[in-house]
This record gives sequence, C-alpha cells and structure tokens, in this order.
Amino acid sequence: MRKNIVAGNWKMNKNVIEAQQLMFQLLDYKKHNATHCEVWIAPPSLYLMMAKDVFAHNEIGVFAQDISEHESGAYTGEISADMLASIHAAGAIIGHSERRLYHGETDALCNVKVKLALDKGLTPIYCNGETLEQRKAGQHLEVVKNQTEEALFTLTADEIKKVVIAYEPVWAIGTGETASPEQAQEIHAHIRNLIAGKYGQDVADEISILYGGSVKPDNAKEIFSQPDIDGGLIGGAALKVDDFAKIIEGFN
Ligand code: 13P
Repeated sequence: MRKNIVAGNWKMNKNVIEAQQLMFQLLDYKKHNATHCEVWIAPPSLYLMMAKDVFAHNEIGVFAQDISEHESGAYTGEISADMLASIHAAGAIIGHSERRLYHGETDALCNVKVKLALDKGLTPIYCNGETLEQRKAGQHLEVVKNQTEEALFTLTADEIKKVVIAYEPVWAIGTGETASPEQAQEIHAHIRNLIAGKYGQDVADEISILYGGSVKPDNAKEIFSQPDIDGGLIGGAALKVDDFAKIIEGFN
C-alpha cells in the first residue's frame, strides 16, 4: 500500500548554523519518537550533503527542492539528477508553484525533470495546484487534470508508481489560508481517478498524494484523515522542530 509521508520544504530559509541545528533537532526527535509516517526534508541544496551526514542511517529522507532539466554541462548554477544520486539523496521536488511563478517552469519542463529523476533512481515529488483566479473561475479540476496529464502521463505504470504527487493550491501557500479538508480531498480523489483511468486502480492506489498549503499543527490531523490524502508537503511549519513534530503526529 501507499506510504504516508510528511515532507518539509525549507525553501530559501536558514543559514548553515540554523540548518544544522534544525537537522540535529529532527534527528533527536526521530530517535526518541515512533513516527507513523515517513519523514522527509528538502533543505536548500547547499546543505544537502550536510543533511546526508546528519541522517547517515536514512532516519529522514533528504530531497532537493529542484533539479536541472539538463543531464550535465554548461548550465551555470544548476544541479543535476546525477549529482543528487551520487550523494544518495532520496529525490527532488519538481514543479513547485514558486518555480513555475518565478522561473517560468511549465508542465512540459516538469515532465523532462520527472523522467530525469526517475532515470537516476530518485523519487520526484511532483507539485501541482490551481491559482486563486482559476479556483474562482471554477477551473480547478481542469487545471489540475492538465498539470497531471502533461507532466506525468508519458510515464510507464512502473515509473508513475515511483512518483509522489503534492497538490498545493497556490492560494493556500504561505497565506495562512488552507484548503478545507473537503476541498483538498476532492482534488486528491480527482487526481487518483485520473491515474486510475489511465493506468488502472491498482497503480492509482499505490501513489502517495500529499497536500501542501498552510498545513499547521492544529489542522494536520484532520487533513491527513481524508481517504485520498497521504500526508503533507509543509513550508513554514517545517522550519521549527516543535511545529513539524506536531504535524508528523497528525498520523498518530
Ligand atoms: P506553507 O506550508 O508555508 O504554506 O508552504 C507550502 C509549500 O509551498 C510547501 O512546498
């Protein structure tokens, strides 16, 4: 069956001392608490090797926040899937709405990145989700359908089973406004149905679909209790060990 996952996306936060401190706090938490989900973090790429050292026994999965769409070569500032695999990173977030907004990333580009990640044995966390305007216009189901199909539906069944999807409505990211559990469940079920239609129910049932957007200690449990929600991709609340731990405990 599919995994329950709580993943923290640190975005562009924390200097090296702060990052190391939070990693050691998380390690200590993991050592002293039985968690009922996998725990992953995506720190800034500068700290990935440090994270691999701190979590030397894979207590916490270490993910990049993005990867290059190129395999190698003259691409200043980029980090390749191969480089991530070589430090034994678990995977990478792909297609986060902030990358789409500030770096013009498209579903077609995400498709290339997802394939590169899979080819190197990395787990892609593929993000999708509608903007506020799209939701107000009643387009959310259609938008998420297109994002899912264009980025993922060239994959084989064996490949798509290895992808984790994160539904992150753009209007709920960093705004304090969360999709209601029912709103999130509707989209998660929609995504799973799309996958079932293309690949069959067995495949769809194996794919973890996370919710992201203002998940906090006080709403995590209710969100995670929805049948098609398999965990969360957490931004702001992943930056403090106490908040992140309480969210993880939404699965207890
Ligand atoms: P917040 O939890 O800060 O809303 O961010 C969600 C997110 O974008 C995770 O990738």
